[in-house]
Amino acid sequence: MQNFNLTNLIRANVKNLAPYSSARDEFTDFDAKMIFLDANENPFETGINRYPDPQQKSLKVKLSELKGVSSDSILLGNGSDEVLDLLFRAFCEPYKDNVITLPPTYGMYKVLADINAVENREVLLMNDFSLNVSEILRVQDANSKLLFICSPNNPTGNLFSEKDISQLIRSFNGLVVIDEAYIDFANSESWINRLSEFENLVITQTFSKAYGMAGIRLGICFASSKIIEVLNKIKPPYNINKLTQEKALSILNKKEKLENEINLLKANKDNLLKQLLQVNWIQKIYPSSANFLLLKVDNAAKRYKQLIDAGIVVRNRSTQPLCENTLRITVGTKEENTKLISVLQNI
Ligand SMILES: *Cc1c(COP(=O)(O)O)cnc(C)c1O
Repeated sequence: MQNFNLTNLIRANVKNLAPYSSARDEFTDFDAKMIFLDANENPFETGINRYPDPQQKSLKVKLSELKGVSSDSILLGNGSDEVLDLLFRAFCEPYKDNVITLPPTYGMYKVLADINAVENREVLLMNDFSLNVSEILRVQDANSKLLFICSPNNPTGNLFSEKDISQLIRSFNGLVVIDEAYIDFANSESWINRLSEFENLVITQTFSKAYGMAGIRLGICFASSKIIEVLNKIKPPYNINKLTQEKALSILNKKEKLENEINLLKANKDNLLKQLLQVNWIQKIYPSSANFLLLKVDNAAKRYKQLIDAGIVVRNRSTQPLCENTLRITVGTKEENTKLISVLQNI
C-alpha cells in the first residue's frame, strides 16, 4: 500500500522558510502609467531595464492553453536542470535521504545528487532497456524521496511502458519525476494528461530539444499545485530573464512551424535509420522515440575518432552500463545526415 504524504516529504528547513519577497512580488497590480521607484532599477527605457516578471504569468497562461494544465501546476526553470535541482533542494535532506535513478540514463540526475549530498541508488534497466520494477520497489525505503524516469530515455531512446510507469507511481512513496525532454518526438501521449490522477507525479519538459531553443535555457515542471507551491518558495526570484520569456512566447505562438519541424525531424530519422542499416560495422540500431539513435558498433572509440577526423561530432556512450561500444547520434538536417552517411560508408 502506498504511503504518500507531501508534507512529510518536504525538508524541514524548506517547510519553515519565509521566502524572499521581491519588489515585483509585493506590488503586482501593474499599470504601465505608474512610476516605479521600488526596485532600484535604472529608469532609462531599453526594454530590459526592469526586472522580469518573477512568476512569468503571460508565458504560463500560454503554456497552460497549449498543454491543458492550469497555470498553478506549472513552474519554469533556467533549463530543466534548474527544475531538477530545485526538486533535490526542496525534498532531499543531505546525508540522509536518497533518490533512485535508472542507468543507463541522463547523467545530470547523479551529478545533482552528488552536488546536493544525496545518496543515488542505481537500479539498472533490464537488458532490453525496460524498467526493473520489482528491484526499484525493493530498494526504496523511508528516505527515498525522488525516482527519476526518463521517457523517452536518453541515451537508449526508448519509451517505458505505461503499465510499468503507472505501477511505479502507485507504489513509490516519494515523488516520481518523469523527464519528458524528448516527448514531442514520440508517438505517445505525455503524462501531463494524467497529472490529476496522481498526487506524487512530477513531469519535466524542456525548450531545448523539439522546440529548438536550447540557447534561451528554459525548462518546465508540471505537478500538483501543492508541489509547485513548494518549489516556488525556494526558486531564485527572477530565475527566468525577460529575453527568455519574450522569445519563448513568440515561438509558442508559431505552433505550426514547430509541428512542421518536428515532423521533418521524424522523417529524417526514419531515412537515417534506413541508411545506417546498410553500414556493415554497425551491429545494431536501437528503436528510438527521440531525435537521436543509439548504435552498437564494432569499436566505438575507433569510430568516434574517425568521425571527429571527418568533422562530425557524435557522443560515445560506451562508459554507461549496458552501452558497451555504443554511439549516440542526433538526427540533423537532411544535408547533415547525407554527409554523415557518406562518411560512415567510407570509413
Ligand atoms: C537534453 C535533456 C534535458 C534538457 O535539459 P535543459 O537543462 O532543459 O537543457 C533534460 N533531460 C534530458 C534527459 C535531456 O536529454
